[in-house]
Amino acid sequence: MTVLNSREVSWTEFDLFNPTPEHALLRDTLREFVRDQVEPQALEHDRAERFNLDLFRACGDLDLLGLTVPAEAGGAGMDAVASVIVHEELSTSDPGFCLAYLAHAVLFVNNAYQNASDEQRARYLPDTIAGRKVGGMGMSEPDVGTDVLGLRTTARLDGDRYLITGRKMWITNGALDDHTLGDVFLVYAKTDGGQLSTFVVEKGFAGLTLGQKIKDKLGCRASTTAELVFEDCAVPVANRLGAEGGSIGHMMRNLELERLTLAAMSLGIAMRSLREMVRYADERVAFGRPIRDFGQIQRYIADSYAQWRAARGYVYDVARRMDLARPGNRLDSDGVKLFAATMAKEAADRAIQVLGGNGYVGEFVVERLWRDAKLLEIGGGTIEAHQKNMTKDLSRAQHTALR
Ligand SMILES: Cc1cc2nc3c(=O)[nH]c(=O)nc-3n(C[C@H](O)[C@H](O)[C@H](O)COP(=O)(O)OP(=O)(O)OC[C@H]3O[C@@H](n4cnc5c(N)ncnc54)[C@H](O)[C@@H]3O)c2cc1C
Repeated sequence: MTVLNSREVSWTEFDLFNPTPEHALLRDTLREFVRDQVEPQALEHDRAERFNLDLFRACGDLDLLGLTVPAEAGGAGMDAVASVIVHEELSTSDPGFCLAYLAHAVLFVNNAYQNASDEQRARYLPDTIAGRKVGGMGMSEPDVGTDVLGLRTTARLDGDRYLITGRKMWITNGALDDHTLGDVFLVYAKTDGGQLSTFVVEKGFAGLTLGQKIKDKLGCRASTTAELVFEDCAVPVANRLGAEGGSIGHMMRNLELERLTLAAMSLGIAMRSLREMVRYADERVAFGRPIRDFGQIQRYIADSYAQWRAARGYVYDVARRMDLARPGNRLDSDGVKLFAATMAKEAADRAIQVLGGNGYVGEFVVERLWRDAKLLEIGGGTIEAHQKNMTKDLSRAQHTALR
């Protein structure tokens, strides 16, 4: 018997997807929130390419924005499994909004908490955990994506401040709307000697401007994507997280949770695609029979279900082992995203096929899920980057995963 929060659970009854009553309660809360507040606005915000700031603030009211920050620092004190639950449930309805949530809660809040001093935590976390400020993270640049260690943005020490110069591209939450810069960013730049350092850069710092809000994206249109321009942007030394030049660890540790939660978004997309195609196949009649009677339709449904189920087991197994304070899960955080992203895209594609002409229209949801799913093969690392990293890790002599 295993004792979980004073319940005795036999290992055969252990629920991988809701391992404790707190996780189950979180999922119930999210399902209600999604039904009542997320679903009614999803199509409209996708169409308008608009971020829903009120909905974001409602996430603050539910304690979701500081989900993985310990309670003593003002967060909900939960773990990677909880983060997976939130991303999975939000993405059954609005993966675009979920991406904005991820950029804030994982890329800014969790990343800042893990790498900041107590004094810095006290300065940055209360406003971002409450939803008064919207955060994001700037790693990618116009000329540098996969080859991230080749980034060109520099931070030059000048007395008690750094002067940051460069451009950050594709920054989720970089803008709040077409003209308004986002509030606060965690930015990677090269300091003296070419090493990576991490800075918190706030709206209003001289030299930081909104380059462009990127429009007409294929999917995830309910999140904003923007270019940030830094021209001798003056950032106090007190806004550097950790030691100068010591940020590779920050980046790698946060990429692991980012990839896991992007994989969780894939699970939500596939779950919703399945719900829609199973229901439609029951209701739609052709040649005098429900279309679920046709073998080709059965193949779309059954293949999607088995692949979703396999991905879900993999994602939750990796999540329960992930230590947010320590890197060391690269093989499987890349692995879950590699497998789940394409799984979700294929499930959404099959759902469109099962729904026929209706599947091609926004009101039936699955065309939006299909567009949103494609991002997961690119953002947070392309599928080719995952293949590269995983092969490297597996090639190391005697990798424990293969013993
Ligand atoms: C909607 C959206 C939101 C985003 N949000 C953020 C964000 O908030 N913050 C942030 O920093 N970034 C963000 N990104 C950027 C994202 O992480 C990058 O787009 C991604 O890492 C790929 O980089 P790239 O676009 O420069 O492509 P490139 O790196 O130029 O890649 C182009 C192609 O070459 C392939 N390739 C490159 N190197 C190799 C190799 N060694 N082997 C095999 N193939 C290779 C790639 O896989 C890809 O197919 C976002 C992107 C999008 C589209």
